Amino acid sequence: MSDGTLLVFSGPAGAGKDSVLIEYLKKKVPGVWKSVSYTTRAPRDGEVDGVDYKFVSVDEFEKLIEQNFFLEYARYGVNYYGTPKSYVDEHLKNGDIVILKIEVQGAEQIKQIYPHSIGAFIVPPSLEILEKRLRERGTETDEDILRRLNIAQDELAYSPNYDYHIINDRLEDAVDDLTAVIRALQLKK
Ligand code: 5GP
Repeated sequence: MSDGTLLVFSGPAGAGKDSVLIEYLKKKVPGVWKSVSYTTRAPRDGEVDGVDYKFVSVDEFEKLIEQNFFLEYARYGVNYYGTPKSYVDEHLKNGDIVILKIEVQGAEQIKQIYPHSIGAFIVPPSLEILEKRLRERGTETDEDILRRLNIAQDELAYSPNYDYHIINDRLEDAVDDLTAVIRALQLKK
């Protein structure tokens, strides 16, 4: 049992989830936290261990799975990603809102465990714009980009399972929309 709210924030890579969330978190809204996931993916330029992700080896990740450390985990492309259970439980007990920025398989697992969790799905204005953004990011190889585009198309099919859709056309508008969703959750009786 918990009094807080889990907000599952998903959307295809390149839709702008990270940018929207980074801008939102700059507002430092009291009682709103973002869980830091574990991953076996290599850090991108500028990513900080313990802030963006906890970067671990496949061996370490698999040990943590055995220890039942994760609330949910999934493979995305060739890597593992998982949410630490203790962090989430602690904040939910405090009555906080905890944001999980996770892909759609993880989101399905969360819905089973926390039926009252709320889902927000961020969508790009179009698939063409999504591809352009992925290429402009310049952090991945062509093969990675193609893999991510394929996953993105599959992920878009899950959007009807989410409570809120946020279209990321202009970043400021998308941040305002996320702010409105979270504010509404805070005001909910
Ligand atoms: P990226 O490699 O671009 O940072 O993340 C790839 C995908 O994994 C994104 O959709 C991201 O939201 C998702 N992801 C990040 N952390 C987790 C997690 O803990 N669990 C799950 N299921 N997905 C995650």
